[in-house]
Amino acid sequence: MRLDKFISKATELSRKEAKKILHAGEVTVNDSVTKDVGLHVDIENDEIVWAGEPLSVATGNRYILLHKPEGFECTLKVKEHPIVTELIAVPELGSLRIAGRLDVDTTGALLISDDGKWLHRVTSPKHEHAKIYELTLAEPMDEAQQANAVEEVAQGILLEGEHEETKPAVLEFIDATHARLTLEQGKYHQVKRMMGYFGNRVTELHRASIGHITLEGLDKGDSRFLTPEEVAKF
Ligand code: URA
Repeated sequence: MRLDKFISKATELSRKEAKKILHAGEVTVNDSVTKDVGLHVDIENDEIVWAGEPLSVATGNRYILLHKPEGFECTLKVKEHPIVTELIAVPELGSLRIAGRLDVDTTGALLISDDGKWLHRVTSPKHEHAKIYELTLAEPMDEAQQANAVEEVAQGILLEGEHEETKPAVLEFIDATHARLTLEQGKYHQVKRMMGYFGNRVTELHRASIGHITLEGLDKGDSRFLTPEEVAKF
């Protein structure tokens, strides 16, 4: 790996800042000061030291669960709202990708990683990982409307602009305006569009779980690394 890239991976510094500390002679490689930003270093065996601290990079992938608060956008570029990666205190944010985005006003479980194959497994409908959404509706639904919606969702419904019906899903009403929806797919705005199909509107939406991953013990805005067992189960 190039020395400037290694430094920016191992610290909070950008590539430009890494070059600056190299040019200033602040870095040693195997006890010799080097200013060669393009020097190829062996990340397993070379000893690279900055300000008296040996540097190292984690060579494995990162797998993060974030309890997304409302008001944050699931994008890696700066848009009109704050972005979710601002909530995660890890270096090299640029290499992270999000599995199954949530809308700005939606809260809940969000998986973030730099392992592309794993992200694909998490989101692919082929792998059928159930996502549980808790929702609040603008209009109360009476018992007959609830029973009809439960039935139609279980069969699959044709959303506007789609050619195929939604996959069979489980809708459970808690009361006239609160429900839980379990989906094994993730079309754009799927939950809101499904409720729109019944002439209703979702006013609050929360993703409680993705497969076996729940938010237990995580407050809004907090994140944690998944355990190797949790990663392997997807
Ligand atoms: N469905 C939606 O409509 N919004 C989300 O954020 C997630 C699922």
